[in-house]
Amino acid sequence: MNSDSGNKKKSGPGQGAHPRGFAALDGAGFPEFAPGSVWLVGAGPGAPGLLSLLGYHALCQADVIVYDALVSDRILKWARGDAQIEFAGKRGGKPSPRQQDISLRLAELANENKRVLRLKGGDPLTFGRGGEECQVLAGTGIPFRIVPGITAGAGALAYAGIPATHRDTNQSVLFLTGHDSSGDVPADIDWEKVSSASPVIVMYMAVRNLPKIAERMLSFGRNPNEPVAIISNATLPEQSVHATTLADACGNRDIVRLPTPALIVVGKVVDFRETLDWYADALRENALG
Ligand code: SAH
Repeated sequence: MNSDSGNKKKSGPGQGAHPRGFAALDGAGFPEFAPGSVWLVGAGPGAPGLLSLLGYHALCQADVIVYDALVSDRILKWARGDAQIEFAGKRGGKPSPRQQDISLRLAELANENKRVLRLKGGDPLTFGRGGEECQVLAGTGIPFRIVPGITAGAGALAYAGIPATHRDTNQSVLFLTGHDSSGDVPADIDWEKVSSASPVIVMYMAVRNLPKIAERMLSFGRNPNEPVAIISNATLPEQSVHATTLADACGNRDIVRLPTPALIVVGKVVDFRETLDWYADALRENALG
């Protein structure tokens, strides 16, 4: 034992004047949200508690919030009372504003010297077009920060009790979108390569095209008995999980009527749900998730 260890003044979390718990967050090293800048923040998949601390800090500071369709109202309630709140998503079947218009609006608001919070569902850079918005900001010299969020591919799997990777089943996982700008199965995806690329495939925006996608995967040698989970409204009280197989999903028109938003997982990891499905009914009324 070090001879002087008994004399050392103890320091560390919770010692001395340092506050603990939530109080410790107050002013504790959050970066400044400067007027005239844009923060692109991922709100997570739905449950408000899945927002990051930096995202929460941004909400408390923002002068204006431009948010997308999948962002929870419960998260928006944490905004400043006098914050200006603008919706930039698709509503009631109406066409969504053009991406370029949203990006220019962000630039316009920042040029008014506001703290602009661009709040997007999940992670802003995962099938969220956040990169395009940042390109416009970078091009106009507006300072921006990207705050990652929990993407549906992580959040939905966790709440469905499906590990994205598991040493016994897969060492890789592949994320793809099941729909292109026209709504069709994306022609840019090489389905033959994708089918053999990874034991686990996670698909965003794919419910409508799942019957066709399953057909392609089967035609490129995927196992017809491979389990498939369709996780609707993940992390929310109304979450539901529909379990099927690739063969059943192939050409099955009933599947396209499952509630959305929904995330699809193909692969053996789906079977872990039998023991890992923890999101019981009794837990669903917690306001934060
Ligand atoms: N940037 C987002 C994805 C936007 S694309 C992210 O990182 O999660 C929208 C798609 O995300 C939906 O069609 C669906 O496939 C998935 N998604 C988003 N929220 C979801 C939720 N709560 N439950 C299931 N899927 C969800």
